[in-house]
Amino acid sequence: MRAPLVDGHGRRINDLRVSVTDRCNFRCQYCMPAEGLTWLDRDDVLRFEEIERLVRLLAEMGIDSVRLTGGEPLVRRDFPALAGMLAAIPQLTDLSVTTNGFLLERDAAALVAAGVQRFNVSIDSLQRDRFFEMTRRDALPRVLAGLHALASQPGVGKVKINAVALRGYTEDEVLPFARFAREHPFEVRFIEFMPLDADQAWTPGSVLSGEEIRAIVGREFPLEEEEREPSATARTYRFVDGTPGRLGFIDPVSHPFCSDCNRIRLTADGKLRTCLFSLGETDLRTPLRAGATDDELEAVLREAVWRKELKHRVNEKGFQQPARSMSAIGG
Ligand code: SF4
Repeated sequence: MRAPLVDGHGRRINDLRVSVTDRCNFRCQYCMPAEGLTWLDRDDVLRFEEIERLVRLLAEMGIDSVRLTGGEPLVRRDFPALAGMLAAIPQLTDLSVTTNGFLLERDAAALVAAGVQRFNVSIDSLQRDRFFEMTRRDALPRVLAGLHALASQPGVGKVKINAVALRGYTEDEVLPFARFAREHPFEVRFIEFMPLDADQAWTPGSVLSGEEIRAIVGREFPLEEEEREPSATARTYRFVDGTPGRLGFIDPVSHPFCSDCNRIRLTADGKLRTCLFSLGETDLRTPLRAGATDDELEAVLREAVWRKELKHRVNEKGFQQPARSMSAIGG
């Protein structure tokens, strides 16, 4: 057994986000331009067996939770097969997927059967025209159909909805989402807009904070905060009137949660990112394809994690936005 992964600040690292592709079938305004981005060459993208080998090695080093992301992971061919390969890794106790839901109706059954336990579905508006405005795709009905197809799968775990909170857009979505969370078995989470957009147009003023959203909800549906789980990114709230349903708030800009961060990320082209806002990366694909042993890869991983950033510096003077945008990091 290999020693658990610990960073230079004493934080135990057991959560891995894996971006399986940089490609996406949506063009969300806060993420990428209408024309899309220059995608990675297929040869540069890690093959399933390479992803499986790295995840298996990291699982031996204490990673027990893996989230599969993109771009949009479901556009990767045979993605459920990859999920099945990872679900077979004995140390992994939690396998989840973040998706925009467009292909969920097609893949929900296969992903649940493959062993994916939890799903986050990205939906920024429950109004068809505004959804189209934000994603540049007229896809809301199909995404909602996918959501319900997923929820009807026997054995499916928690399904959450992630809505990116943007000033001047999300204010009108807040109450419809709160009602949706009260009427459906889905936790709705608002995520503060982060400076990871490909256009690099983010400003502090474009962030609608969790606090502001809670104030909007609270005027109609008073909320009560629940105890935060260690290393959790979201703070969850229940409705004081006892109506089932939860709202979650991921406030990395206004309330950073870096102190107990337990996360690292693997990009689709085989780079290790020790923080969402890392300015540097560690290349794993080159040693992997050059025949490095597991012990040699372990040394590279340990050295990189030891240098993991203490926190992000979004609110600090001189903050530098990473060159790699969210669609190529995968959240
Ligand atoms: S910003 Fe970086 S350090 Fe902070 S919680 Fe996110 S990944 Fe962890």
